Amino acid sequence: MRYSIFSLIGQALRGHRDWAPAWRDAQPQRAYDVIVIGGGGHGLATAYYLAKVHGIARVAVVEKGWIGSGNVGRNTTIIRSNYLLPGNIPFYEFSMKLWEGLEQDLNYNAMVSQRGVLNLFHSDAQRDAYVRRGNAMRLHGVDAELLDAAAVHRMAPLLDFENARFPIKGGLLQRRGGTVRHDAVAWGYARAASSLGVDIIQNCEVTGFIRQAGRITGVETTRGEIRAAKIGMAVAGNTSRLAQMADLRLPIETHVLQAFVSESIKPLIPGVVTFGAGHFYISQSDKGGLVFGGDLDGYNSYAQRGNMPTMEDVCTEGIAIIPAMGRVRMLRSWAGVMDMSMDGSPIIDRTPHAGLYLNGGWCYGGFKATPASGWCFAHLLARDEPHEVARAYRLDRFATGHLIDEKGQGAQPNLH
Ligand SMILES: Cc1cc2nc3c(=O)[nH]c(=O)nc-3n(C[C@H](O)[C@H](O)[C@H](O)COP(=O)(O)OP(=O)(O)OC[C@H]3O[C@@H](n4cnc5c(N)ncnc54)[C@H](O)[C@@H]3O)c2cc1C
Repeated sequence: MRYSIFSLIGQALRGHRDWAPAWRDAQPQRAYDVIVIGGGGHGLATAYYLAKVHGIARVAVVEKGWIGSGNVGRNTTIIRSNYLLPGNIPFYEFSMKLWEGLEQDLNYNAMVSQRGVLNLFHSDAQRDAYVRRGNAMRLHGVDAELLDAAAVHRMAPLLDFENARFPIKGGLLQRRGGTVRHDAVAWGYARAASSLGVDIIQNCEVTGFIRQAGRITGVETTRGEIRAAKIGMAVAGNTSRLAQMADLRLPIETHVLQAFVSESIKPLIPGVVTFGAGHFYISQSDKGGLVFGGDLDGYNSYAQRGNMPTMEDVCTEGIAIIPAMGRVRMLRSWAGVMDMSMDGSPIIDRTPHAGLYLNGGWCYGGFKATPASGWCFAHLLARDEPHEVARAYRLDRFATGHLIDEKGQGAQPNLH
């Protein structure tokens, strides 16, 4: 069923009784061409592009919970392509271009809202770093504008410009950045993939791999064995746990990241604003809630819940740039588990096991990558060669030293 104004009016006249389910509730078959493990944004996008771009529709997405129960439904919804390093910029800009056409492509309203991402700077040295970043972006054809303090003031007058400790000296603005309704991305990809024949199998946890003659040929699940010629892992914060089932030890650690939402208030923040003197980012949802987050919780965990000290730290940083926030009541908070790689950049590659492929290490920035990650992982699975914009995301770069250390932090994953 195609969604349109006409289908909406037709359904309204019939009392909304005839809507078809957005995707089929598939039962596991014995075998597929490709199994994608993980029904998050990346897994669902991979399945969709496998069917749509490569004509491979005998695909199963195997999800241990329900679609959208992982990070794709837990993030702060920010999309941007304001990267610095050559390994990253083309990939994230490709993703941005896919976001720009996604709703038409999927026939699904994902509320893609390009209302700008503004990175504040608070010192001369930080301005130099942002000038460099903006120039690198423009050299790759990505939009970037350097704003002075007066221009930032016109955009966001409620920021604290009098703050003696962290004076706002300006900001780097990417106008095409913004936000996307996160769970709609999962639902939109699931619906589009299912309509092309992909089986989306929920409540089906992968518990082991089947090996035959040196190849991975299938998965053991809580709903029985499923075979496939190729198997892709796209399980975000559970990557190292799943890989361990195939005896792989990956350069990935799992950490907790929290998000927070306030009560609804009148428009306060125009787009996405990030604090340059700490780690804090904020936007405002269409309902009026302030949506914000900050640093990782700082310890390894697979539990999708956070701790109070980080909550306090994030709120303190928020009030440092927007004192008015101190008057707003917090509505809710939650957490997700991040697959932090050693250089802060992702991995889309084959593994040492024939038949097993890896998509992981997205750290806390993988939502914006969803379309390009799915596109490139589908390309790798279908053709056995990396997509042009994802060539740098090799697994062996940690052995060969070709790291993509965007933040320049070295091998300390909780700092990326
Ligand atoms: C609080 C928070 C804020 C964030 N903010 C942003 C942001 O603003 N912008 C941004 O770009 N990124 C952000 N991120 C990061 C982003 O959400 C993730 O990098 C991205 O969603 C990960 O990819 P995914 O959607 O496929 O992951 P997930 O949705 O986590 O999908 C993985 C799926 O695999 C399933 N799975 C795990 N193990 C198994 C198994 N054994 N068998 C079967 N299924 C399994 C899980 O249940 C899960 O559904 C944020 C994350 C969090 C938690």
